[in-house]
Parts: sequence; C-alpha cells; structure tokens
Amino acid sequence: MAEMQTATTIAQLRMLVSCAKKAGSKIGFVPTMGALHEGHMSLAHEARKHCDFVVVSIFVNPMQFGPDEDFHRYPRPLLDDLKLCTDAGVNLVFNPSVEEMFPADFTTVVEVNGLTNNLCGKSRPGHFKGVTTVVMKLFGQVQPDAAYLGQKDAQQALVIKRMARDLDLPVDIVICPTLREADGLAMSSRNRYLSSEQRSVAPLIFKSLCLLKEEMGLGKHKLISQYREDLLKRLEAIPKALIDYIEIVDADSLEVLQTMSGALLVAVAIRLGNTRLIDNIIINTSA
Ligand code: AMP
Repeated sequence: MAEMQTATTIAQLRMLVSCAKKAGSKIGFVPTMGALHEGHMSLAHEARKHCDFVVVSIFVNPMQFGPDEDFHRYPRPLLDDLKLCTDAGVNLVFNPSVEEMFPADFTTVVEVNGLTNNLCGKSRPGHFKGVTTVVMKLFGQVQPDAAYLGQKDAQQALVIKRMARDLDLPVDIVICPTLREADGLAMSSRNRYLSSEQRSVAPLIFKSLCLLKEEMGLGKHKLISQYREDLLKRLEAIPKALIDYIEIVDADSLEVLQTMSGALLVAVAIRLGNTRLIDNIIINTSA
C-alpha cells in the first residue's frame, strides 16, 4: 500500500484528493479533533472497508469551543495520531492551522436550527454553529463520497446529517457505534484529563444508562419524567459528579418526549472536576 500522505494546506489537500478521484477512488472522510483513540479509528476502519481513499482531518476547531472551555488545553499529540492513522491504513491526514481554516476576514456561518435547541446545543451556546461551519468547510475541501461519524456524539451526527440533507450535499453520512473501554466508559479524547479517582467512577455513567434501559425493558410503565428522575438520582450519586443535562428525547427529532413511543435517545452530559463527559444510549420502546 502507498505511504500515508499529509497535507496542512487546502491547496495540497485538494491536489491529493483530486489525484485519487481521477484514479476513480471513492473518498471516505473522518473529521476529528485529534488525540485519536480506538473510537476514532473504528470510523477510519469503517471508511477503509467501504472506500478506496480514506482522509482523516485533525483540526481542533476554535469556533466550536466556548470562551471558558478547553480549546487551549485540548490534547494535540500529533505524532501519536499520525502513527495510529498509518496503522489504520489511512491514505491522507489533513492537519490545517487555524489561520488556514479561518483567515482573519472569515465571516460565514452555517447553522442548523431546531435540532440544536436542546442537549449540548443548550448547554454549549454557539457550539453547533462552530461544528457545522467547520464541517461544511471540510466537506467542501475534501469533497468526500461518504463521511463517518460516531454515535458517541449523537446530536452532532444528527445535526450534520440534517445539514447535508438540507444543503443537498453529495455525501453519505454514516453513523457508527460508540466504542467503549472494557468497563463501559465511552472512549473520548477527554478521558485523558481524568484523575485516577475520576476515572474509577466514570464507568457509572454508562452503567446508569444501561440500568435505565433494563428498567424500561421490564415494562414498568413509569412516566418518562419518573425514569428521568431515577436516572438523575443514580448519576447524582456518582462521587463529585455534576450533572450538566439529562434528557430523554425522540431519537430522530431530539424533541423532549412526554410518553414512551418509538426510539428514545437518552443523552447525558456529566462533569467530573473540569472534565465534561457525554454519553447516550438508544432505547427502542416498541422492540
Ligand atoms: P472528536 O475528535 O471528538 O471531534 O470526534 C471525531 C469523531 O469521532 C466524531 O464523529 C465522534 O463522534 C467520533 N467518536 C469520538 N469518540 C468515539 C467513540 N468512543 N466511538 C465512536 N466514535 C467516536
């Protein structure tokens, strides 16, 4: 297999992708912020299976971080990331600078309404505007046939899917399952911030979601608000955890539900110290 290529400018990226396209390659794309782990690599493997030429972008996007968030301390272990990409058979890593992506006179934003009103959209104002703007740019730069996103960021995946549909972008959006550590904790670049004490209690987040799923499966027929209350109590019992949000919403529209019907998305954001972790589970109530 040809050696992995890297590009830091849009011009280099375009040149390399257009060579691949001329050779008839189907282009698969995995947008990331780096600090790669097996969860990211599972997306690259999925892309590898279905596409001929796989592009991974590594860009810590300032536009999607709030002023008090972790943009400056976000991990950037580029050499480790490149090694993981090489091992996964990625063809091209695009790692632009902030100036390359956002020149000083940059003024355009892309915004998806409705789907961004709750969950992370509510607790991180402006976050999704930053995500959709950068992903729209990346789609324009890479022009992929398919883009691979993780269910771990359920709302993000739905928002990008809606953007692609609304704007008629010729890209298939493929949503891949959340990869977890052996103890259930969803893999995340932010897990490396956790102290050993925080790391030891973090799996209780997913455990609580699984217990809720089990309870709902038992057909106890409580009100959604009661299930939510039970989940809140369990999550509040995690030592030193602060609840950012707990929502039980329709898995497609993300609207808050009053009654149990169809596929539910149970999504949570929890702070352990300075680290904000998100996780979610889909519960099919008709199954
Ligand atoms: P990020 O680098 O956090 O912006 O994530 C880049 C992509 O990787 C997004 O589509 C995420 O949803 C996906 N991703 C992150 N963590 C996981 C995971 N544990 N399992 C599967 N996909 C993930």
